[in-house]
Amino acid sequence: MFNKILIANRGEITCRVIRTARALGVATVAIYSDADRDALHVRQADEAIYVGAAPASESYLRTDRIISAAQATGAEAIHPGYGFLAENADFARACTDNGFVFIGPSAEAIEMMGSKSTAKRIMKQASIPLVPGYHDKSQDAARLRTAARTIGYPVLLKATAGGGGKGMRIVHDETTFDDALDSAKREALASFGDDRMLVEKYLDRPRHVEVQVFCDNQGKAIYLAERDCSVQRRHQKLIEEAPAPHLDSKLRHAMGQAAVRAAQAIAYRGAGTVEFLLDQSGQFYFMEMNTRLQVEHPVTELITGQDLVEWQLRVACGEPLPVSQENIRLHGHAFEARIYAEDPANDFLPQAGTLTFLQAPEESRYVRVDTGVSAGDEITMHYDPLIAKLIVWDESRERALNRLALSLTAYRVGGSITNIDFLYNLATATPFIEGHLSTHFVEDHRDLVFRNREQDLTRELPAAALALLLHEQRKDKQVQAADPFSPWIHVNAWRLNEPHIHRRTLRCQQQDHVIELEQQGEKYRAVYKGRQTWLAGSLQGDTLQLESEGHRQRCTFIATQDGYTLYFPQGACHFQATLANLGETAPREGDAALRAPMNGTVIRLLVTVGEVVEPGTPLLIMEAMKMEHTVKARCTGTVEVFHFQPGDRVDGGALLLDLRSVNS
Ligand code: ADP
Repeated sequence: MFNKILIANRGEITCRVIRTARALGVATVAIYSDADRDALHVRQADEAIYVGAAPASESYLRTDRIISAAQATGAEAIHPGYGFLAENADFARACTDNGFVFIGPSAEAIEMMGSKSTAKRIMKQASIPLVPGYHDKSQDAARLRTAARTIGYPVLLKATAGGGGKGMRIVHDETTFDDALDSAKREALASFGDDRMLVEKYLDRPRHVEVQVFCDNQGKAIYLAERDCSVQRRHQKLIEEAPAPHLDSKLRHAMGQAAVRAAQAIAYRGAGTVEFLLDQSGQFYFMEMNTRLQVEHPVTELITGQDLVEWQLRVACGEPLPVSQENIRLHGHAFEARIYAEDPANDFLPQAGTLTFLQAPEESRYVRVDTGVSAGDEITMHYDPLIAKLIVWDESRERALNRLALSLTAYRVGGSITNIDFLYNLATATPFIEGHLSTHFVEDHRDLVFRNREQDLTRELPAAALALLLHEQRKDKQVQAADPFSPWIHVNAWRLNEPHIHRRTLRCQQQDHVIELEQQGEKYRAVYKGRQTWLAGSLQGDTLQLESEGHRQRCTFIATQDGYTLYFPQGACHFQATLANLGETAPREGDAALRAPMNGTVIRLLVTVGEVVEPGTPLLIMEAMKMEHTVKARCTGTVEVFHFQPGDRVDGGALLLDLRSVNS
C-alpha cells in the first residue's frame, strides 16, 4: 500500500478519500486555493499545499502545480476525485511521466471514453447496444440534418466532448434544427473548447441506469450492480438509488455483463461507470462511460458492503480485486440525495453565501453524510454549490425512502437557500414512492415537487412566538451576566413588574400575525386569532424542547440574517419579529433592556430622538438605590421616543424608551 497520496480535488470527495486513506494508514496531502484556505478538506488532510487563486483554472486545474505539490510532499500516488482533472488524459499522463501512480485508468482509456462519439464507435464494435444515432466525424450541418431525418425526430444533439448536461439540445422537428445546432455548438465551445456534435434518437421518458464496474491489472473485471439516476434537473442528477427499482435480475445481469464488456473493450483499470438509457420496453442502450469514481458511489457501497475508495487504492497498488463476481451480494436499498445551495424555484440557480448554520442528521449504520463544509464555511461561485450528499440505507426500498424523508427534515441549513424542501417533495411524491422513474420525472410532476410545504400557522406561530421570547430572555440574561455589578442582573425584580402578557408580532408568509403569550407558572397560554393553546418550552443552544397540548417535539431555533427560523420535525417556519405598535407592551428586540430595573429617577438622556445607536451605546442615566445606572442599547436601532424626561420618577419595569431595531 502507498505511504502517502495526494488528492487533486477539494470538498466532499477529498474528505471522502481521506477517510479511507486514514483507515488504511495512508497519509494524505490536500491542495487548496485562496477560496479554500480554511476548508474542511484542508483541515482533515495530514498536509495541504496551496496551488493558486480561487478560479479553478488557476488552482485545481493546474497540472504543473499539482505535480509540484506531490513532489514537494513525497506523495507516491495521485487521486483525482471526480470533476476537475479526473477525466483529463493529459493529467493522468503527467502523473505517470513524473513517476506518480495515477489512481484511475490509463490515459489511453480516458481518451477513448472522453469523446462520446469515439466511445460509441468502440462500443458498437464490442456489440454493446447503442441508441440509434450518428457518431461519424463529418460535422457538416447538412450531413447532421440528414442524419437527424434518417434517425427520425425527436432527436438529441450532444456535444461529443460533453458532460454535465452541457451542449445538449432536444430537437422536435426539422424547422428548429439549425437554431438548436447553433446554440448547442456555442455552448459546447464555451464549455469544452470543442463544438463537435453527435445526433441521437431522443428516447421518450427513459430511465438513466448505470452500472458500477471495477477492473484490476490482472485482467479481472466485475460489476457491482446498478444505480438508477433518472431523477434529474437540467440533465443532472438529484437523487440516485441502488439497486434500480423494478429491474428484474435477468436484466440486471444483462446490463452488468454489457458494462463489463464495455470496460474490457478499452482495457480498463480501476473504478468506472457505464451509463445506459433504459427505455420503457426494457431495452437498454449504452450512453457513455465515466472513467472515474462517481459522485453517487456511496449507494453502491451501502448495498454491497464494500469501500470503493479502498478498492481504488488497492488496484492502483497492483493488488487484485478483493472480491469475485459470485461473491458480490446485494443487501437492502440505498438512496443518495444531493444537497445543494441552489434555488429550485428560480431554475435551480446556485446560491453563494456563508453557511451560518448547519445541522446534519445524526450518522448511523442507516444514515451517512458525505460533506466538505462545516458551519461558517462559504459556498463560493467558483465551485459546485454542493453542501453534502445525504445517503441512507435500509432493508427495503420503502424503509430506506422513509429514512431519506426523515433525514431530509433533520437537515437544517442557515444562510443559504437550499434544495432540501424540493428533495423532500421528491422523496415523498407518490410516483417516486412507487418507483415510476424517468428522466422526465421532475417535468412530469412539477405540481408535486415544486410546492411549498403547507404550513399550519395556527400551530406553528404560537410556538415560534414562544421560541422568540425564550431567545430574548436568554439574551437579556447573557447581557446581565456580562456585568455582574449591574442592578440589571436582578432579573426577578423587573420580571415581577413586567406585564405578564407578552405580545409578539411575527411576519410570516408576507403577513403580520399577533400572538399573545401569558406565562402561568411553567406554561404559557398562547392566543392567536382568538384560539388558545397551552405551550411549554425550554431553549438550550439551538434546541427548543417544545410541548404543545401534550405533544412534545424537539425543534431547532436559529436567528438568520433576515429573521428567525424554527425547524419543526415537519419542516421550517421562517419569520421576522416586527415592530407593529401594540400598546404599552409593544415588543421590541432587546425590549427588556430598555425597562427600568427598579423604582428610581431618570437623571439624564444621553442620545436624542432619531439618533441611530449601536449595541453598547449609553442611552440614559437613571438613579436607583442611590446609585447611577446607565441604560445601554443591545442592538443597532433608531431612538424613537423617550417615555420619561430628566427628573421623572419611574416604576420598576416601566419602558423607558422605544428603540426601533434596524434588523426587525
Ligand atoms: P452528460 O455527459 O452531459 O451528462 P449524457 O450523455 O450522460 O450527458 O446524458 C445526460 C442525460 O441526458 C441522461 O441521463 C438522460 O437524462 C438524457 N439523455 C441523454 N441521451 C438521451 C437520449 N438519447 N434520449 C433521451 N434522453 C437522453
